[in-house]
Amino acid sequence: MREYFHNLYMTIKTILIGMRITLKYCFAKTVTVQYPDVAPALQPRYRGFHFFEIEKCIACDLCAKACPVDCIYIEKTGARKIDKASGVAKGGAMTRYAIDYAKCMFCALCVDPCPTDCIHMGNVHDMSGYTREDMIVEFTDLAKEGLQTPQPFWMRHEKLPDWAGERKQEWIDRGVPVAEAMVKALEEQKPAK
Ligand code: SF4
Ligand code: SF4
Repeated sequence: MREYFHNLYMTIKTILIGMRITLKYCFAKTVTVQYPDVAPALQPRYRGFHFFEIEKCIACDLCAKACPVDCIYIEKTGARKIDKASGVAKGGAMTRYAIDYAKCMFCALCVDPCPTDCIHMGNVHDMSGYTREDMIVEFTDLAKEGLQTPQPFWMRHEKLPDWAGERKQEWIDRGVPVAEAMVKALEEQKPAK
């Protein structure tokens, strides 16, 4: 009998402990973030859609091999190597570098193994599409436009809230100094010594 009441007591106690946080939020003031008019608060270490410096990529496949869901697709015409004088990779052409975001789980396991530090988790937090194929980002196509990271569809509009306009400009500015090198990465070049 004593054990029965002890179990009963422990059951009620543990439920109340578990419900404490829930009850606290039940009576807390609700906050509605007016997104997209107001920027979402992203922490500095937020892992968003990647930004990729194609001009530094040596197409070694280490990121693709580290990816637990095999969602990085890399194709090249030949070996690539960093040219010490310019800091950019030369050799074969990058014919494809794509990530399937329908599969990506934003774990960042692809980032650390990269020997040239050219793939990073970015601060793009939303993306949508009408088909699964829309969720595959072809970074080689973005490179032709001087972009290192995808832009959500809604951010392609001219009229944007101030924060979104600034963030979009930040993404564009990042690619400007290396725009020429990005396009060259798509072509065969003399291998680096
Ligand atoms: S973040 Fe993770 S799942 Fe996404 S591409 Fe990188 S390794 Fe793969
Ligand atoms: S690990 Fe880095 S250098 Fe190698 S293929 Fe991936 S992004 Fe390119």
